[in-house]
Amino acid sequence: MMFLTRKIIFSAAHVCRNPDWSDDQNRYVYGHCAVGTGHGHDYICEATVKGSINSSTGIVVNLVDVKQLLRTVITPLDMTHLNDNGDLFQGQEPTTERLTRALWHRLVPMLTQCELARLNIYESRTRSIEYIGDDTMIYVTRRVEFNAAHRLHSQVMSDEENARIFGKCNNPNGHGHNYELEVTVCGTLDKRTGMVIDMGLLDDLIQRTVVDRYDHKNLNMDLEEFREVNPTSEEFARVIWNRLSPHFTQPKLYKIRLFETSNNSFEYYGEQE
Ligand SMILES: [Zn+2]
Ligand SMILES: [Zn+2]
Repeated sequence: MMFLTRKIIFSAAHVCRNPDWSDDQNRYVYGHCAVGTGHGHDYICEATVKGSINSSTGIVVNLVDVKQLLRTVITPLDMTHLNDNGDLFQGQEPTTERLTRALWHRLVPMLTQCELARLNIYESRTRSIEYIGDDTMIYVTRRVEFNAAHRLHSQVMSDEENARIFGKCNNPNGHGHNYELEVTVCGTLDKRTGMVIDMGLLDDLIQRTVVDRYDHKNLNMDLEEFREVNPTSEEFARVIWNRLSPHFTQPKLYKIRLFETSNNSFEYYGEQE
């Protein structure tokens, strides 16, 4: 099976507010998306299709055709206010979860030569949704930044071995990273909110469990979990997973991805049961 992805960008305004709730409750559920009468996002939409390679053409489907179908569905939304779109949202808050799901159901019947595998919509650099056609598995990814110092040094290896394996990262006085962490949870849509998880709840959990503990810290010297564990990003990702995962049942924690730099990232899905 081959997977092909086509990206399309569109700009739209929205506001997510339940008029029956207080300002504080709306802010807790929808974050900044609850503020005022509306704001805009440059939504990035990625449609991934799957299929077999045609033995004559050598392609699965002509991506130009996929682009045209995406335009047919997306262009009517470009430069509009999503709250005005009764067709897609029926007066409900136009969350990115609802948007992704609605666009999926528009695209699927139009794709005749291949199958839609997933639809990702990034409302910003820090929040995105993935839908795979299964209402019990809607993925929400949130990204945060923090910085910390560390020194890569294994206590079970000699100084020479450490220097050889870790190079500059073995510098005795350490060095620092601007870490970026993506946390992906997976669950069903809360019909009350149109979200998989309240923005405030997810942000608070990440803030309390990860950022407050590690931001502006020296991992080797300040954190007991690295007293005897070499704070590589592999170990760090596992430690973060183990701290976060007990807090998630519905939705469940699906994946974390830790960026040590923009070039190096580490994904962890927990240990398979
Ligand atoms: Zn918004
Ligand atoms: Zn490092």
